[in-house]
Amino acid sequence: MNAVEIIQRKRDGGALSAEQIRWVIGEYAADRIPDYQMSALLMAVFKVGLDAAELAAWVDAMLHSGDVLDFSHVAAPKVDKHSTGGVGDKVSLPLGPMVAACGVAVPMMSGRGLGHTGGTLDKLETIPGFRTALDPPEFRALLARTGLVLAGQSETLVPADRRLYALRDATGTVESIPLISSSIMSKKLAEGLDGLVLDVKVGRGAFMKHPEESRTLAETMVGIGRSYGTPVRALLTDMNQPLGAEVGNACEVVESVEVLRGGGPADLVEVTYRLGEEMLVLGGVAADRAAARARLQGAVASGAAFEKLVEVVEAQGGDPAVIHNPSLLPVAPHHHEVPAARSGYLTRCDALDLGVAAMRLGAGRERKEDAIDPGVGLRVLAKVGDPVEKGQPLVRLAWADSRRLAQALPLVERALEIGEERVAPPPLIHGEVS
Ligand code: URA
Repeated sequence: MNAVEIIQRKRDGGALSAEQIRWVIGEYAADRIPDYQMSALLMAVFKVGLDAAELAAWVDAMLHSGDVLDFSHVAAPKVDKHSTGGVGDKVSLPLGPMVAACGVAVPMMSGRGLGHTGGTLDKLETIPGFRTALDPPEFRALLARTGLVLAGQSETLVPADRRLYALRDATGTVESIPLISSSIMSKKLAEGLDGLVLDVKVGRGAFMKHPEESRTLAETMVGIGRSYGTPVRALLTDMNQPLGAEVGNACEVVESVEVLRGGGPADLVEVTYRLGEEMLVLGGVAADRAAARARLQGAVASGAAFEKLVEVVEAQGGDPAVIHNPSLLPVAPHHHEVPAARSGYLTRCDALDLGVAAMRLGAGRERKEDAIDPGVGLRVLAKVGDPVEKGQPLVRLAWADSRRLAQALPLVERALEIGEERVAPPPLIHGEVS
C-alpha cells in the first residue's frame, strides 16, 4: 500500500478499495501516515466524495480503530441523541434526564464547543465539581446505577476520529457529508446502542445551510445505522436563529433547568420533546409519539426528570445545590443591551453571527486549547416574526472583558434585522428521516 497512490486515485475521481481505506485509516490512527498526506486525502474526499461501498469501509475502519463499548449489563434499552451542533442548543441537558426518567438508559457522550457552536461538556462543567472525564468502568457503573451518564468520549473510542476531526478542522474539510456522517456514526456505533436519534441542524448556524443538504446527511447517517442493525431516526431542526433564549454555558444550564421545571422557551421545549418522543419510541417504552409525549410530560410534572438531573450531577461529583438554585452558577459581572434601531418586525436573528459573538465574549473557543469563560454569553430577547418597538432591548450580553465586548457587539448588531412587514418564523422542524 502506498499513501501517494491512494491520494492520487481519489484525487482523480477513482474509488478506493476497502483494503486501501482500512490501511490508510489504520496507519493514520497509528501515526504512521503524516498529517500532510492525510490532509491531501481528506481534501480529495471532500471534493470527490465517497461512494456507498467506500463510505461503508471508511465507517468500519474508523469504528474499529478503537474500543467498542458493551452496555449489555444494563437491562434497559440504550438510546442516545446526537446533534450536529448549533447555537443555544442545550437540548441534551433537559432531554437526557427526561428520557432516563422514563426508563430508557442514555449513555450520552458529548463534545466541546468549537467555533460558533456550543458543546454540552463545556456547559456541564460550569456546575462546580462536575466530572465529564470518566473511564469506561466508571461510565458503565454509573449507567447501571442512574440510567444516565453525561460524559466526554473516552480516549480509546474511535481514536481515528479524534485525529481526523482535528485535522479536518484545520484544513477546511469539515463540511463534507461522507466525512461528517462517518465521524458521527463511527462514534455512535462504538457506543453499542439499541437506538440513536439524530438532531440534524439546518440553516445559517448549522454545518448544512440548506434543507436538502441536511436531508442527505440525515439519510446517509440513517443508512449507516441500518447497515449495522442499529435503528436511527433523524429530525431536521432549525438553526437559522438560536434555539431558546440563552447562548453561552452557565446560562444554558439555567435555561435547561427551567425546562425540567416545566418552563423554558417554547422552541427549546418543543425540540426537546420531539427528540424525546423519538427516543422513547425507539427504546420501546412507548408505542407511539403521543404516548411518549405523555410520559415525558409526566416525568417533568412529577419532578422525576428534575430529580434525575440532580442524581446524575451528584453521581458525577457535581454540586447539586446549583441545580436546586441555578442563580449560584457563574455569571459575568457586566451587562449590555442592544436595542432595536427602529420599530417593526424582527426579520433576522442570525444564529451564526450570534454564535460567533458569544464565542468572542469568551463563551466558546477558536482553538481547541482555548479556555472558556463560564459566565459570559447572551440572551436573545426577540425572535424572528416578533413585533419590536424602537429602543426595546433585543439582545442582552453578559460580559467580563471590554475588549471582547467590543468584538462581539458589531456581530450582534449585524445579526439582527428589522423590517416593516412581518415575516413568518422559520419552521422549527424541517423534516424527519427514518
Ligand atoms: N460532529 C462530529 O462528531 N463530527 C463531524 O464531522 C461534525 C460534527
